[in-house]
Amino acid sequence: MASKNGTNGNGHIHTVAERIATQEFELGEVLDHLHDHDMTDSKALIEDAVKLILLNVGEDPTRDGLLRTPHRVAKMYGELLEGYQQDVETIINGAMFEVEYGEGEMVMVANIEYNSMCEHHMLPFTGTVHVAYIPRDKVVGLSKIPRIVDMFARRLQVQERLTNEIADALDAHLDPVGVMVVVAGQHSCAALRGVKKHGVNMVTTAKRGEFRTNKDLRDEFYRLAGM
Ligand SMILES: [Zn+2]
Repeated sequence: MASKNGTNGNGHIHTVAERIATQEFELGEVLDHLHDHDMTDSKALIEDAVKLILLNVGEDPTRDGLLRTPHRVAKMYGELLEGYQQDVETIINGAMFEVEYGEGEMVMVANIEYNSMCEHHMLPFTGTVHVAYIPRDKVVGLSKIPRIVDMFARRLQVQERLTNEIADALDAHLDPVGVMVVVAGQHSCAALRGVKKHGVNMVTTAKRGEFRTNKDLRDEFYRLAGM
């Protein structure tokens, strides 16, 4: 049997089809165990999927450097996409308070860092979120807003929907006079694929209630956010 490093000696990486045809590579060795685990074990299934990707780009998932890669990638997805296991009610968990606050005054939480993953390429996009709302009779604990941002960010996203989902969640749970959310993001898929230069920011906004109609409020938002 030929070497299993998947190259033809000139550094050209064979496709899986070529490697199977020339018996250079025994696909079965890698695939044999794919189904001998619990098919409801999502982590194991993700590991299998990663092995298939490695095989089909012309790699050998059995070589040393790649042996633990499927495990690491599955674990990473578990962390980066943990937002699917979370919901807003559980995060807020009753941490809403009635307070006397100046009528029409806003509460702002600025510069919340987030890491998300674009749903088109499953590549990261990262940046900051500024959130402001004008309480009607309820405010929410300060730490809860960054956690709500994280919950939505840790799902496959497009930045526009991330922005809307944060605004709609606060609108639904706090019933405020208004909510405004501004998200700035740098998308590695755009940078890597040459669509945009590195460091280019995409900015998206979502306004609900008074923020839609009142320009003074929007100006105050941008001033407080330092934008
Ligand atoms: Zn993308």
